[in-house]
Amino acid sequence: MALTIYDSMAREKRVFEPADPNRVTMYVCGPTVYSYAHIGNARSAVAFDLLYRILRARYGADHVVYARNITDIDDKIMKAAQEAGEPIEAITKKFADIYRADMGALGVIRPGLEPTATGHVGPMIAMMEKLIEKGAAYAAEGHVLFSVDAYPDYGKLSGVDRDEMIAGARVEVAPYKKNAADFVLWKPSKDDEPGWDSPWGRGRPGWHLECSVMIESELGETIDIHGGGQDLRFPHHENEIAQSACAHHGAPLARYWMHNGFLRMGADKMSKSLGNIVLAHDLLKDWHGEVIRWALLSAHYRQPLEWTEELLKQSKKQLDRFYRLLEDIPFTEEAGDAPESVMLALEDDLNTPEAFAGLHELRDIAGQLEGEARAAAIARLRDAGRLMGFFNEDPAKWFKGAETDGLTEAVIEGLLAARADARKAKDFQKADEIRDKLSAHGIVIEDGPQGATWRRA
Ligand code: AMP
Ligand code: ZN
Repeated sequence: MALTIYDSMAREKRVFEPADPNRVTMYVCGPTVYSYAHIGNARSAVAFDLLYRILRARYGADHVVYARNITDIDDKIMKAAQEAGEPIEAITKKFADIYRADMGALGVIRPGLEPTATGHVGPMIAMMEKLIEKGAAYAAEGHVLFSVDAYPDYGKLSGVDRDEMIAGARVEVAPYKKNAADFVLWKPSKDDEPGWDSPWGRGRPGWHLECSVMIESELGETIDIHGGGQDLRFPHHENEIAQSACAHHGAPLARYWMHNGFLRMGADKMSKSLGNIVLAHDLLKDWHGEVIRWALLSAHYRQPLEWTEELLKQSKKQLDRFYRLLEDIPFTEEAGDAPESVMLALEDDLNTPEAFAGLHELRDIAGQLEGEARAAAIARLRDAGRLMGFFNEDPAKWFKGAETDGLTEAVIEGLLAARADARKAKDFQKADEIRDKLSAHGIVIEDGPQGATWRRA
């Protein structure tokens, strides 16, 4: 079956055909590492992780090249470093590590390539020189600016017209700009600011240039898929497109563009500037990564997603139902190919609501079977979930799961041992006290021939 994806440039679903099926290339705009990622940022990472998984299943894991950049030079980083009284490199390393760990906990496979902006300043200077030579950029007062008039298709992706652009881009109309919509490729650094020597003086790159250059260096002039959140369509992606096309004789930057919708909290898009954020890092203290991932994938990636505590609770409940069934087969880390129903849904522009419906159907089928047929059906269900990044936990561990009711696994095991001792000593009052204490914390004890086991209710 064909893989179709909604191409934001064409504004319609298109059959995906890579330029080279042996080397499928995708790039997603990654984090600016100056603080923790919020769950809206994580939505983008998880949505494109799912795409990456589908591409790997179709073309083979070795045939998909995925780059997600790390923006490690930026005014926000400079400010954070100053406030923390730490060197920039310490801040960016810390938050890049935290980002990787948090996304990993959400089941996001680490992209094969994670280029950094500071690692690409040389090629950025080379691209600016090329753009200047072609008349698409100009130097002025220590800055280098891109001339939007050099690219007639400017605005095609977002459909934003020129007047809106000038108003919407929060463009400071600096006197050295030839056109108010021109944007900065390079800006001068003061002595106490980080900077690199360049033909235009000591300075640092702008954010948009970074992505064009990293794509060129790591993946090539034209890639198959470029992704990011829908807020990046303008100006960021519009600028990437213009820079790359002008530097590469009009060759398009990407053959398909994909954008995820916003995660909202209350009436608004979750965003740091509005202050309505929930950090992925904090959620992971209270919820298993698969629960958060389930919640993130519960809506189709292009639709808005309303983030609530209730959504997490529902997601946990659903996963529990699946794990109850998975308990019936031995846990293994291996997985086979996903059943067609779920694969087909995902190949239809990552239709996760449909894929979840497919999982429920597989669960219902397995639940009605017995013996070997039942075990085989549960294994199919497991394979389907694994494709989406679920069911990777041993069910026994899942139900003992790390929740925040104050009782760690070790404490519970200790209490259980104490109860066993009390029973052996025929101190049933003490044994009952321990059981009541555990029960008050939502821990259910099941006495069996092999002794007592426990799970969270
Ligand atoms: P930023 O660190 O703001 O550049 O964002 C990193 C990624 O997260 C980008 O692809 C953004 O488009 C995306 N993003 C930011 N906020 C949200 C949100 N509330 N919902 C969905 N995606 C978002
Ligand atoms: Zn980008």
